[in-house]
Amino acid sequence: MTTTKGEALPISVRNVTKTYGPVHALDDVSLDVESGEFLTLLGPSGSGKTTLLMVLAGFTRPDRGSLKFGDREVIRTPPHLRDVGMTFQSYALFPHMTVAGNVGYPLKLRKVPKAELERRVEGALETVQLGGFGSRRIDQLSGGQKQRVAVARAIVFEPRILLMDEPLSALDKKLRDQMQIELRHLHEKLGMTTVYVTHDQREALTMSDRIAVVNHGRIMQLSTPRDLYERPANRFVADFIGDSTFLAVTRRGAQIFHGDMALRHDAPPPDADNLLMMIRPERVVLSRNGPQDGANNFTATASEVVYQGDSFLLHARLADGDMVAIRGAMRGENVTSLPAVGDALTLCVAPEDTVLIDGSDA
Ligand code: ADP
Ligand code: MG
Repeated sequence: MTTTKGEALPISVRNVTKTYGPVHALDDVSLDVESGEFLTLLGPSGSGKTTLLMVLAGFTRPDRGSLKFGDREVIRTPPHLRDVGMTFQSYALFPHMTVAGNVGYPLKLRKVPKAELERRVEGALETVQLGGFGSRRIDQLSGGQKQRVAVARAIVFEPRILLMDEPLSALDKKLRDQMQIELRHLHEKLGMTTVYVTHDQREALTMSDRIAVVNHGRIMQLSTPRDLYERPANRFVADFIGDSTFLAVTRRGAQIFHGDMALRHDAPPPDADNLLMMIRPERVVLSRNGPQDGANNFTATASEVVYQGDSFLLHARLADGDMVAIRGAMRGENVTSLPAVGDALTLCVAPEDTVLIDGSDA
């Protein structure tokens, strides 16, 4: 199959199920990835992320369901005819081959003539900033360089779809942060439809156009990073992405209460029996001048204060015994007068930061 650079394809997954004995690795998954989009599958270990990627690549045949690239049904198409580049969780490089041998391998399979092969290998290596590394041996490379070779091999035949399975998980934090930005720039340059897998929520927030949160083989929510963080659909998503405090709330008529306190909130509560109020620690304001007009004002006692360099983390106990976490930047008044354990506090949460979610276990 010939490809044209820059011509991305949309992906449509419909009702895909894959079981291994009693395990539902994928449980009726439907998902649309837009042409040229960077979509991340985010979920804990064992949630089905790799299985879904393997189904997209053609290495795993699902029990049922359909898969389209553009208008073409590909569920029965073998991997090498799918026009998909992939990096594997373990890199899966050939250790006995050179860098150029590894990167050129997909072209050799496709019987690309030698001169063109060499040109395209060097081009792919330059794209991942490994120009001139072609003759090195794989075991002479650092983790970050191996990871780039794996990316170069995945993009060298200019596939219209790129799949990456936790490509950065073996790298240390500094390099990982740097590679996240690099891979994102590479995506902007090449424009392929990309499905990226990670279990790291911050990595997903940093890199993605949209994120599908996966748990037990099901998609819990599919949305933009901002939407997932600001308006999680359920407790699992709220817990998995970012830090949060949950307070039990009740509905009386049209009003929502925490204990006896009527809450101010912007968005309508979900239609659920078991409601929770979610509060992000960095959205709680530690008021030095008592209650703020228009906010939800809680009186509390500081029970733990942790200095973390750029920020502080404070755990406070409300009058009814519930705990609330507060995170703030270490600047201004916080530098000179951070609260101490036992101090009386006023915690203010604006209506727009009061997120009501379905508290039932999803
Ligand atoms: P993730 O990539 O999110 O960690 P996987 O897709 O690898 O999760 O696995 C999802 C579930 O399917 C897990 O419970 C895993 O043990 C199971 N599983 C995956 N592949 C196989 C296999 N080849 N044989 C048996 N069970 C498998
Ligand atoms: Mg995996």
